[in-house]
Amino acid sequence: MQKLIQKVVNLIPALGYYQVGIWTSEPDKKRVIFETGGGEALRFSRGYSQRFKEGIIGWVAYTGKPILANDVSKEPRYLGKLYPETKSEISVPIRFGARILGVLDIQSTELNAFTREDLSVLQILAGQIAVAMENARLYEEARSKGDYLESLVRNVTDAIVSVDSQRRVVEWNKGAEKIFGYTKEEVLGKDIDAIIVPKDKQKEAASITGRAMTSLEIIDFETVRQRKNGTLMSVLISASPILKGKKFLGAVAIYKDITERKRALEALRESEEKYKTLTSNINVGVYRNTVGPKGKFIEANPAIVKMFGYKSREEFLALNVANLYQNPADRKKFNEKMLKFGYVRDEELQLKKKDETPFIGSVSAVAAKDEKGKVMYYDGIIEDITERKRAEEALRIKDSAMASSISAIAITDLEGNLTYVNNSFLKLWGYDSVEEVLGKLAVKFWQVEEKASEVLEASHYKGSWVGELVAMRKDDSLFDVHLQASRVTDKAGKPICMMASFIDITERKRIEKEIKRKSQELESFVYTVSHDLKSPLISIKGFSELLKASSRDKLGKKGLHQLERIVSNADEVNRLIGDLLKLSRVGKAVQQPREIDTLSLAKEIVEELNLQFKIDHPTVKYLNLPVIYADWLHFRQILQNLLSNAYKFRNETKELELAVGCTEVDNTYQFYVKDNGIGIEQQHLEDIFHIFRRLEDKPVEGTGAGLAIVKKIVETNGGRIWAKSVRGKGSTFYFTFPKRKKPTSARV
Ligand code: ADP
Repeated sequence: MQKLIQKVVNLIPALGYYQVGIWTSEPDKKRVIFETGGGEALRFSRGYSQRFKEGIIGWVAYTGKPILANDVSKEPRYLGKLYPETKSEISVPIRFGARILGVLDIQSTELNAFTREDLSVLQILAGQIAVAMENARLYEEARSKGDYLESLVRNVTDAIVSVDSQRRVVEWNKGAEKIFGYTKEEVLGKDIDAIIVPKDKQKEAASITGRAMTSLEIIDFETVRQRKNGTLMSVLISASPILKGKKFLGAVAIYKDITERKRALEALRESEEKYKTLTSNINVGVYRNTVGPKGKFIEANPAIVKMFGYKSREEFLALNVANLYQNPADRKKFNEKMLKFGYVRDEELQLKKKDETPFIGSVSAVAAKDEKGKVMYYDGIIEDITERKRAEEALRIKDSAMASSISAIAITDLEGNLTYVNNSFLKLWGYDSVEEVLGKLAVKFWQVEEKASEVLEASHYKGSWVGELVAMRKDDSLFDVHLQASRVTDKAGKPICMMASFIDITERKRIEKEIKRKSQELESFVYTVSHDLKSPLISIKGFSELLKASSRDKLGKKGLHQLERIVSNADEVNRLIGDLLKLSRVGKAVQQPREIDTLSLAKEIVEELNLQFKIDHPTVKYLNLPVIYADWLHFRQILQNLLSNAYKFRNETKELELAVGCTEVDNTYQFYVKDNGIGIEQQHLEDIFHIFRRLEDKPVEGTGAGLAIVKKIVETNGGRIWAKSVRGKGSTFYFTFPKRKKPTSARV
């Protein structure tokens, strides 16, 4: 290019001109650079530059318009002081199309050295220079490109292969050797399709090669090729024809091994898919929303839309974020926190669904900032923890209920080591802190360790154990405990720990003992008194009879009557004493159980009572009366008393109707005696079982001890008695009797 420009410069007749210069423009740098020149007083050296708009040359380079100054002293754009010899100057742009390539500039020491014609000539000249310059540039570019291409072909990892019109390999670069595994020598002159095209792609390859050799455009396509070792790979092929004039000489193709890229793409697609299903299926909301009071969601996964009860993503994205808060002002607080710390973690927010249902969301989010540090949006995840909170709260309540329970409570692991005790436990056992207790074997807290481990075992294997045990305090003192132990299992039924609650029954035990002692005392007192009263009573009766016989006349009618009153009262007292004796004997004289046919027994008693009360054929139903093993005297006494009451307290206005029956409940018989008699007021249903308690309804014989005796017998035999009644309609008395096995023959 230098040469060319020099040539042009030489063409300019330098005569009379002070200097000629060609400048090239560098628009990027907004400068114009002196390239070459001539003339008697050339002032510039190569590389000298002037800024755009600096001096006449700078202006021409900038505007692309020529300047003709025949008196530079009058030209405002002239930089006079540098070259005082210059009087006139003509400067034209060198332009190629719209591009300003540079400036052609001529200066003269004469005033008015240039004409308009000169300007036109110079402009033509500049045009020629432009063409020369452009050509030179293109040449340079082509040359450097050629070098580039050469090194590219040499070094590229892609395979570059060319074939002749017969598809025989003529060019096979290093990339091809590497990709396909064949050396250039191995493939030169061979049919390309036979070497690298797998069987199922032969047809496709033939048609593509055919096309590449007959069309002018480059064909890009993706397919599969085979390596020397037989493995297949995905390739991207760009093929184009080699032309000489209009003749097709062959084709050149670039092969890019895209197996890895395909695999990576596939992996990416898979992971994207996974991520997508993950974020769509998990119950964790994933979102991105904008900041500030008008913040909106810009991203939302299906879970968050569902969590807030919205129907579609679009509906959700249209929302104002603050409206999801129960109290929209909370969003402001959230914003402040985010701006202050840049993130939040497990922040619990009081939110609400579309239908206003409140819920608690746990949010973790980070603030994303632009390069200037301004927060653009928040990326976060949210979880609905309402249920978890509720469960936690329920657990907390249970926990504190357990901790503050007045019953002592303890939990052990499956090995029997204490893992939890509440305050009442510590208090009861006399410890000050849980540390003293936890981790220790539970059996150590009892008087007899073996007994305690039996309890643990029973509750482990059977599920529970209820009973009484003697416990040992920290100071080794003993106390009675009622305990209820059970095994705790997980959802699958697997035992995970043991739990027990305890009640201190020391006091109860003490009272029980006291009562027993007192009642024994009382019983023996009653027995003695009754016994001792008997003989004076007999004497009273005996002497009264004697007096009656000896002094009948003297006593007179009145005296006799009074004497009879004494006798009948003595009889009454006698009966009372008899009942008392019976009562105190119950439990003392327990007989061996024997077989009792309760049906025959009931019938027998009814027969007797019919005679006694002079009642013919009352209606009596006998229902399921079993054969049992029991103390015969006791059982007879019960039935006798209950049935005779039914007769005594019958309703005189009705026919007597009775039912005697039994139902079996678990291990007990439940007998009943039902009548249609006068009935008992509700409030007396308990009283009637107390001794000498009579309801003054009916002037019937009796001491009021019958039911007390029955009650005592029933309880001595391990049963229970109670009554139900409707006044005026009748009463039913129930009593239970534990089932007993048939005694061994030796005992009968
Ligand atoms: P007694 O029969 O000697 O009066 P009991 O102890 O047998 O004493 O009964 C107590 C009281 O209970 C009776 O006085 C009576 O008022 C009431 N009573 C007992 N059995 C019946 C019954 N079958 N129907 C109505 N009242 C009854």
